Amino acid sequence: MAMDIKEIFDLAVNLTPEDHILIQKAYDFAKKAHEGQLRKSGEPYFVHVFETAKTIAKLHMDAKTISAGLMHDVLEDTNITEKEMEKEFGKEIVFLVNGVTKLGTLKYHGKERHVESLRKFFVAMANDLRVVIIKFADRLHNLKTLEHVREDKRKRIAIESIEVYAPLANRLGMGKLKGEIEDAAFPYAYPKEYAQVEEIIKEQKELYEKYLNEVREGLEKELEKNNIKINKIDYRVKHKYSLYKKLEHYDMDIDKIHDIVALRVVVDNIEECYRILGIVHSIWKPLPGRIKDYIAVPKPNGYRSIHTTIFTGSGGIAEIQIRTKEMHIEASYGIAAHFSHKEHTNNKKIDEKNKFDWIHELQNLKEVANKPESFIEHLKMDFFNNRIFIFTPKGDVVDLPEGSSPIDFAYAIHTDIGEHVSSAKVNEKIAPIYTKLKNGDIVEIITKKDAHPSSKWLDNVKTTMAKKHINSYLEKNSLLARLKSYAKY
Ligand code: MN
Repeated sequence: MAMDIKEIFDLAVNLTPEDHILIQKAYDFAKKAHEGQLRKSGEPYFVHVFETAKTIAKLHMDAKTISAGLMHDVLEDTNITEKEMEKEFGKEIVFLVNGVTKLGTLKYHGKERHVESLRKFFVAMANDLRVVIIKFADRLHNLKTLEHVREDKRKRIAIESIEVYAPLANRLGMGKLKGEIEDAAFPYAYPKEYAQVEEIIKEQKELYEKYLNEVREGLEKELEKNNIKINKIDYRVKHKYSLYKKLEHYDMDIDKIHDIVALRVVVDNIEECYRILGIVHSIWKPLPGRIKDYIAVPKPNGYRSIHTTIFTGSGGIAEIQIRTKEMHIEASYGIAAHFSHKEHTNNKKIDEKNKFDWIHELQNLKEVANKPESFIEHLKMDFFNNRIFIFTPKGDVVDLPEGSSPIDFAYAIHTDIGEHVSSAKVNEKIAPIYTKLKNGDIVEIITKKDAHPSSKWLDNVKTTMAKKHINSYLEKNSLLARLKSYAKY
């Protein structure tokens, strides 16, 4: 294997000459440190860290993260000390390498292990997200070389990747990485199901490609007639594991699934997305209920695109996805795009900040997370459940778990508002404070001085934050009531 550093340079973006020098130095340092070490596959150990760094570069991360990726196993697996590395590369890179090493060492087995792994991810995420991204890249290469690992260990790593790593990557908007992790783990985690999906894809893929080719030709002609230039048009084949999950949802009925292969149209701006949607629907009839405008209402992880499914006219059904170049980059890189495109305007930064506010909310979890079971429970509630975006009448956005009520919303704005919710308006209509909110709702909270939390509130909130505040209010007041009744005697 060549392992030419140029491969890394070519994949990365925005590198300065100093960045090149830094990465070269880390490359040489790691290569020397791992000299003579072999992986279980028999390959030089350096192959592993080189591939890890390539994935990091592909995610458009900065030079320090790429360098830390090259050196991520140096402190754990070689004789080099932290001091030596710090002298050569400084505190920041050592911090990243240490973070990755700590993420990898788990004491427990079974369910406890799972929980500990997640908890470590959250601590790392709250400290420096780059650590998590290096760990993702490390895991991806380990998955790709999993065939050389002992069978019981292989299955554990594969399942952990699907249950811990992939949902985290997804939550961070890194759709492409999530798909790659799942697909690399799938054959080892669930071999029978994997074989089944392979078979289905083999049967269906050609058929869909035939439909899409017809659509593509028709669309290109129409765009030319209308003088619309598009940036890119290509096919995307659905990731195998996500196809399996979808099949499972539809009782393995392949006829219910129309996006095994989809046509993807990338344009320059949002206006053109809608223009193309109009053209598509003027040529082909859309399937009712299948037009999804994730540009107007993005998915909770930030994904934006328009999806529509059409009858091709020759008996086929095809999905078309329309998006801008920027959305395309974001859909692949998610939060990583946040690091590499720093030159964006302030507006963009504010958007990004809102989008990932929940990471900071997660830090609250550390407080409630002393018992593993309760940690997992809160986590499922706040993190893995789908999120909805709720708006204030002024247009500010609050990101909440699905099933949240106006009480959750009120506490998310301010504890004082939460503590005095008396009624609420949802989309300008008075609504019960226990209403289950929907993505995109506009909510106005009406407070009253004498309104207070009751135990019934507890049954109607989803967020950890609201529960915590309501519980502490109830505790305090039942104590007060008790004290008052004692005082009578
Ligand atoms: Mn490694």
